[in-house]
Amino acid sequence: MAINGIKGFNDILPGDVEKWQHIEATARRVFELYGFSEIRTPILEKTELFCRSIGDATDIVEKEMYSFVDKGENKVTMRPEGTAAVMRAFIEHKMQALDPVARLYYMGPMFRYERPQKGRYRQFHQIGAEVTGVSAPTVDAQVLTMLTHFFAELGLDEPSLQINSLGCPKCRPVYREALKSFLLSKIELLCEDCNRRYETNPLRALDCKSPGCQEATKGAPAMLEYLCPECAEHFEATKKYLELVGTTYQINERMVRGLDYYTRTTFELVTGLLGSQSAVAAGGRYDGLISDLGGPALPGIGFAIGVERVALLLAEKDFSRRPDLFIAALGDEAHAEAFKIMSALQRLGAAVEIDYEGKSLKSQMRRADKFKSRFTLIIGGDELARGTAPLKDMDGGTQSDVALNADAIVKVIKG
Ligand code: ATP
Ligand code: MG
Repeated sequence: MAINGIKGFNDILPGDVEKWQHIEATARRVFELYGFSEIRTPILEKTELFCRSIGDATDIVEKEMYSFVDKGENKVTMRPEGTAAVMRAFIEHKMQALDPVARLYYMGPMFRYERPQKGRYRQFHQIGAEVTGVSAPTVDAQVLTMLTHFFAELGLDEPSLQINSLGCPKCRPVYREALKSFLLSKIELLCEDCNRRYETNPLRALDCKSPGCQEATKGAPAMLEYLCPECAEHFEATKKYLELVGTTYQINERMVRGLDYYTRTTFELVTGLLGSQSAVAAGGRYDGLISDLGGPALPGIGFAIGVERVALLLAEKDFSRRPDLFIAALGDEAHAEAFKIMSALQRLGAAVEIDYEGKSLKSQMRRADKFKSRFTLIIGGDELARGTAPLKDMDGGTQSDVALNADAIVKVIKG
């Protein structure tokens, strides 16, 4: 019996992969306009890295991590997200010595043991970006603007930007207590998860989808009302800079995010087109994370985009590539000539196809059709003798004779 892949782990096949390449190339191009450089970190990290950064009482650490003990008795985890690993690398390589303001982006697979469904997988891919070393609200506005710029470049204007502030270690505990007292009388309405984390992570009830939690949190106090003057000022300034550059947003005061390290500005890009998998990107500030991980006391901010969800939003668009030319050949000698011209043209930068087995002209033309090549060239005995052959422009329908050499042909098909 044939062996299949693992549930929740997907193959990305030709035909679809062109869309992925387009998404990745767009991210590289846009992020580099904003001064970001790529960083590549390993898939495997010490388990402790994620426990300490993401937080013990989060869904990811409690139940979603692919963790195991390796042959050397080390506790390791396949990364469930990118920020902690990028900050680990930032600290380990003392990148702040070169410049405390690092602007980094990454792309690659992440792993979470979740229930697979449309837009939710066990191996999924993120494209993310991080900025260290600046707490100025201009950076918040720039990171958000870069994120929406990336989506606009893909022709996706629909996901809307929602922002909130989660305050800081000064004002959040005050809010937490206020929320806990509000929820105390309604605690039996909370779902099992939210009930259990009432002490450790009560804020999660605010964005919990269960009807009981939604009922219990109706009319709950909002973090925004509890921000300390510094956090309130930071949030106001972030909004002002977003407006200054025309980045539109909505305030969602119930957004809490599922990772403990977030402070101040948090955000999601939300779509109405993917059912309950509505977040296509998310992120926020993490001003305490770098020092919590043993690094310098530097602030940070970043986001991660869910590539599978972006690909789903682009489902209707065709990214398949077309070869420049298909060469059909009749007879052994013409076939050899076609092979030679193809090779020379490829070296000149043209994408060329032939029928390797040199079947009938009819079946070769069927193949040319399948490839949707932009041009076709037909070589037979007469053409070989003349040294020229008809080159047909498949889009324009026009046809002209060209000399049977790569330099002459490339001028027409790439000209
Ligand atoms: P969700 O609320 O959908 O579970 P999340 O808050 O867990 O998302 P983050 O950890 O912030 O997500 O990750 C950022 C983005 O990565 C998400 O907005 C989403 O687009 C994508 N993402 C997260 N988990 C998955 C998954 N299991 N499969 C596919 N994409 C995912
Ligand atoms: Mg999740």
